[in-house]
Amino acid sequence: MEVPEFIRPNFIKLTPYSSARDEYSGREGTFLDANENPFQSVTGEDFNRYPDPYQWACKEKLAAIKGVSPENIFLGNGSDEAIDLLIKITCEPKKDNILILPPTYGMYKVCADIQEVFVQEAPLTDDFAIDLDTVFDAVNSATKIIWVCSPNNPSGNLADRHAILQIVKAFPHKMVVVDEAYMDFSDQPSFLSELDSYPNLVVIQTFSKAWGMAGLRIGSAYAHREIIKILNKVKYPYNINQLTQAKLLESLQNEARKDSYVKEILALRESLKEELEALEITEKVFPSDSNMLLVRFKKAKELFRFLMKNKIIVRDRTNVILCKDCLRITVGTAQENERLMEHIKLFEKTK
Ligand SMILES: *Cc1c(COP(=O)(O)O)cnc(C)c1O
Repeated sequence: MEVPEFIRPNFIKLTPYSSARDEYSGREGTFLDANENPFQSVTGEDFNRYPDPYQWACKEKLAAIKGVSPENIFLGNGSDEAIDLLIKITCEPKKDNILILPPTYGMYKVCADIQEVFVQEAPLTDDFAIDLDTVFDAVNSATKIIWVCSPNNPSGNLADRHAILQIVKAFPHKMVVVDEAYMDFSDQPSFLSELDSYPNLVVIQTFSKAWGMAGLRIGSAYAHREIIKILNKVKYPYNINQLTQAKLLESLQNEARKDSYVKEILALRESLKEELEALEITEKVFPSDSNMLLVRFKKAKELFRFLMKNKIIVRDRTNVILCKDCLRITVGTAQENERLMEHIKLFEKTK
């Protein structure tokens, strides 16, 4: 395949920074090419050498787990790096736009705003489903990316697979990004299996949620190798540091632990949902395929402040489109959820 037409021409031509380690791929040797300290780090550790700019060891292991090829993987400093770079490689500032489906993850718009890229909106329906007519109406000739978040943040629900596929098929000359940050919590298959069929499809996943690695900052984008090649040209040469690469590799040996966390979190989510639904103050707990619950309360803003005063921090979404009177609650440990419920009941009594 040629480089897709939604890629900015200047990045197709771009000669990227050639790092010292690009020229020699062997592991053994006398390395006098990168101006490093030849002894050790001042901490007594071995961080004195630059890390692998393409994280091949991690990608090979990850590729085996995900059933893709290492050349289809980009690793970023959080998925936020992938989000930022995907906009950068497709959109001309002050000219092109991305289409988002609000209410959705805030970083798509923030990254676009920072880059002076326009944002088109095609809101979801009242029950947070994709409205295909609205999407088709909102796309124009300057639209470079259509952004779908599934399961969606902040609503927590999966998007209809068929609707996403219709978008991917309807716009073969635009990039369609499916953000699967919460896919580990869903019982539905990932869109990774569709990558080979659709060269305009990009899937984003993260190690920040189910894998429990938010503090390390590792996200991934999966796409056709021509798109990955462009991302690699544009990223900072050493965007994933050596310590993070080592920990990522270690975490990939522990997938079973991730699976058991997911199982536990899903069970906790179900009991939290039931308890919330039993409250008089609750108007609606929205269906969730993730590790969060979006809940509509009778006195949401007041409840939010009451919880905050008691050092229980949930996410106030009351000012977000379609989320009137809604708080977003992350599923915690049994003790954390219990503490939350105690305080909501306390609040209810005083009202
Ligand atoms: C949390 C989240 C991410 C993950 O971001 P990282 O930078 O990988 O921590 C991505 N997308 C959505 C929708 C999220 O909610």
